[in-house]
Parts: sequence; structure tokens; C-alpha cells
Amino acid sequence: MKWEGRRRSSNVEDRRGQRVGGSGGGGFNPMLIGPLLKILFSKTGLIIVGVIIAISVLTGTNPLTFLGNFMGGGQQGFTTETNYTPSAEEDRLAAFSETILADTEDVWNKVLDNYREPTLVLFSGQVSSACGMASSATGPFYCPGDEKLYIDLSFFKEMEMKLNAPGDFAQAYVIAHEVGHHIQKISGITAEMDKLRGQVSEKEYNQFSVRLELQADFLAGVWANHSQKSIGWMEKGDLAEALNAANAIGDDRLQKQATGRVTPDSFTHGTSAQRMKWFKKGFETGDINQGDTFNTNDL
Ligand SMILES: [Zn+2]
Repeated sequence: MKWEGRRRSSNVEDRRGQRVGGSGGGGFNPMLIGPLLKILFSKTGLIIVGVIIAISVLTGTNPLTFLGNFMGGGQQGFTTETNYTPSAEEDRLAAFSETILADTEDVWNKVLDNYREPTLVLFSGQVSSACGMASSATGPFYCPGDEKLYIDLSFFKEMEMKLNAPGDFAQAYVIAHEVGHHIQKISGITAEMDKLRGQVSEKEYNQFSVRLELQADFLAGVWANHSQKSIGWMEKGDLAEALNAANAIGDDRLQKQATGRVTPDSFTHGTSAQRMKWFKKGFETGDINQGDTFNTNDL
């Protein structure tokens, strides 16, 4: 792909090197209120409150924020910097991802009315999202709750080394697939899926999940079609790279969402053949109307 020097998206949060505080889980446990009040009004409690206020004054933090963090709430955004220095290779991957995201913006702003651009969050190790905590092991994911794509760039290395899916266009396909999920969010498809959860059996839900994933693959293909038509940056072998990646990641890897919940049914993304088929269909037609994976008997 001839991507260097092109526009990079500004809808990017670079959170690499940030460690998320707290050990995951929910916020403040209401069961603790009783015992806490008892402690607060004891002698020791008064001393603790005094210490907290003193620290707050000294460090300039709101005592309530401090207390919140102390009691296990407020992990969201409670981050510390580690001495993380990205390698030249990682910075190149970051620039690449920002460039691909920018092009998905260009394409979808043209194809869709009132397209709302998503944000790309780059992280290393672990990250806190509106969908919960996630680690690199989760793989790239899209969180509908905050309309952000989360990627630990080490995934691209893994695609190359462990999944045998190398190549920049394979990486672009992964980003475009997550953007596909964003389009499903803003067009209301994700909400329809949420309604289904709990109404149908897990097995049936997984079948819908396959359709959702194949549609995201299709949308990635539609992006590639328009992108190539307008700037012609694909090179020989690029399409094969994307198809190879679609083939390689036909497992639950990308499905493992931020909640950490992995659907045990192995066919949550569709088979490799199905993934390749729908990406290809999007790439060949470039027509968003050809991608109704929910109303076809021919997946
Ligand atoms: Zn997906």
C-alpha cells in the first residue's frame, strides 16, 4: 500500500504507555457504606479523614476523587504513565493506523449521509473503555458505548507472526472491519442486536453474531473499493493480503469483547470462507445495499 505521506486522522487518542488503575470490576460497593460510616466516626476514622484531606491539599486533588479511588471506584480514567517508549516500528504502525482511519472517514463521509466519525484509541497492555476493561489479549475491538475503536498495535505483529497474516493491507482490513462495526452502531443495527440478546437462545444469538461480523467484513470491502477508486493506493498482492487475513482470523479472536466475555460457540465470526466471501463482495460491488447479511439464506 502506498500510504505514507497521506492525511492522518485527528480522531485519535494515543494512550500507549498508560496503565489503568484499579483491578477491574464495578465501582463502589454499596454494602460497604455501613462499615465505612462506622469507621469514619471512630477515632481512627477521623485520623484517616484528616490524612486524606492533608494529602488532597498537598497534591491538589479533590478529596472525594481521592476517596473514590481509594475505595476502588473511579478506575475510569485513573491512569498512570509508565516509562513506555514506542519503537520506531510501533510509531510507524501508529501513523499507518491514523492514515487508514482518515481514509475511512473520507470514504464514509462520501457514501453515508451524516456520518459520525469514530475515535481510534491506541493502547498498550490494558485499556479502560465504556465496554469495560480490556487487555491486549482481547485483540482489536469496537465499543458501541463510546464509539471508539481500540487497538494495541502489537496485534499487527501477532497477525504476522502467529496468525501468518502479514501485510499492511491486512492491517487496514482489520481497522476497516472495526469501522464497519461503528457503521452498524450508528445505523441502529447494534441496538437491534442488543434487543435480541436475552430474547433468543445463545445458539441463535451466535448465528446473528456471525451475520453481524460478516457484514462488518463486507463494509470493510466496500471501504476498500471506494478507497482504491479514489486514490488507487493498493498494490499488487494487497487484496490477497486482506483475504488471507480474513481467512486467518475466522475465529473468536476479534469477538472477545472488552467485557472479557468470549462466546464459547466457535462460529461467532463466520467461517474463513464466509469472511473472505463477504469482504470480496464488498470490494467488488462497492455497493452498501448488497450487504444485508441478516436477510439472506446464502451466507
Ligand atoms: Zn468484528
